[in-house]
Amino acid sequence: MNILMVASECVPFVKVGGLADVVGTLPKYLKRLGHDVRIILPKYRSIDGKKYDLQPLPYILKVSVGKDIEKFRIKRGVTEDGINVYFIENMRYFNRPGIYGDGNSDYGDNRERYIFFCKAAIEAAKALMFRPDIIHCHDWQTGLIPAYLKTNLKNDGFFWNTSSIFTVHNIAYQGQFGADTVAAAGFSWEDFTTDKLEFHNNVNFMKCGIGMSDAVSTVSPTYALEIKEFNGMGMEIVLNSRTDRIYGILNGIDYDYWNPKTDSCIPANYSKDNLAGKKICKAELQKMCGFDEDEDAYLLGCVSRLDNQKGFDIIIDALYGLRDKKMQFVILGSGDQFIKLQIQQAVSKMPKTVAAFFEYNEPLAHKIYGGCDAYMMPSRFEPCGLSQIIALAYGTIPIVNRTGGLSDTITYYNHFTKEGNGFMFNITYGENFVQTILKSEKIFRDKKNWDALTQNAMNCVFSWDKSVEAYHKMYEDAANKKRHELLFRV
Ligand code: ADP
Repeated sequence: MNILMVASECVPFVKVGGLADVVGTLPKYLKRLGHDVRIILPKYRSIDGKKYDLQPLPYILKVSVGKDIEKFRIKRGVTEDGINVYFIENMRYFNRPGIYGDGNSDYGDNRERYIFFCKAAIEAAKALMFRPDIIHCHDWQTGLIPAYLKTNLKNDGFFWNTSSIFTVHNIAYQGQFGADTVAAAGFSWEDFTTDKLEFHNNVNFMKCGIGMSDAVSTVSPTYALEIKEFNGMGMEIVLNSRTDRIYGILNGIDYDYWNPKTDSCIPANYSKDNLAGKKICKAELQKMCGFDEDEDAYLLGCVSRLDNQKGFDIIIDALYGLRDKKMQFVILGSGDQFIKLQIQQAVSKMPKTVAAFFEYNEPLAHKIYGGCDAYMMPSRFEPCGLSQIIALAYGTIPIVNRTGGLSDTITYYNHFTKEGNGFMFNITYGENFVQTILKSEKIFRDKKNWDALTQNAMNCVFSWDKSVEAYHKMYEDAANKKRHELLFRV
């Protein structure tokens, strides 16, 4: 199949969260199944054209956004796995310091930026003569593409055979704008109906993606159920109207990249058969944080966007609640300024046991995954979560809230049967993170059990091999349904 991935993030070029990991990894596995996969991304300023050897293609294309005509160029790069990536270059929308905002708030013209991107991706496919069987769109930034295919482009021969797939990575970010978006995006007012573009008298990009694509997926089976039932942030009815076309496919991680045996960012390599290096990683991390280099101190970490979703209120309470214990905490994150302030206060009050780094820092993230004993992830909701899976690969034990993908990947360690790979609590049932950390600490101080738990964690494999089969099946289902619809239409 010809598969066109359209997304606003993709590793190694640009990453804000887990979306980038998925878009950067899934194509490599689809390629192994024999598909021709191409990726379209915005050319943000932060993407280093020289480093990635991006080559301009000989077209100057244009699309309309409201009354403006926007020109753009396409630059082509190739990933290490030989996948073509096409970057949409437009100075007005993408040549700025941030990805979605300036660090304090979202850019005020995000609507125009991603209308432009959706239209440009469609024009780019045509210019490249890449006729996709599948256009796979990710999150709200690309939600208008399925809508264009079902409206303005429904009689366009180029996309006659194209099915659209929309993947929800996080339903909390929906891209909802006023009704005047119909005109700004160049739709017809006839399509401003509840079964198409309209959502409570607005245009909601995510609703367009969910409601008008040929199949919808989200990133874990449990999250797929949750968003239909109670966690859909207003999308429940739309999702339930499409229930036969919703797939919950668990993300994997790239074990070639997240591998403590070969990782060049950590001070010493290790594997489940020889964990000596992990002790060195712990000592180095303690030193870097200004903590005592004490093997017996229980070291807990967190690498995350600073966002309420991630349960930072719960983490901050735990920092204070556990201040008298032999524990140390390290946080790496960027995002919400209020959360940052609260963490800074905790650091200033407990500098010998709490450390924080407020930046996006990939090598430091590796050091934290490698050096910690346990990983804190009390997310209030979590579509899939990659951090806990990465932590498992590094033998760092996740302590999580039972929600979404965390339920699908973490099982409570049972010290009788020695089964399980982490610790869980359930916010909904009033269970307590601090108590769960204390229970995990008991196991930490019981070497035999901790060793068994570490082995269980490192034996877990959430690889793409299995998930890619599920994506492949979803593509085939969507293509078959499309064929059926075409027959019916003729
Ligand atoms: P989300 O997509 O909601 O942000 P995930 O757990 O799915 O959460 O993915 C987060 C990814 O981003 C992980 O790979 C994590 O290591 C990485 N990450 C988050 N914040 C940072 C940071 N400040 N520095 C480096 N990596 C980060």
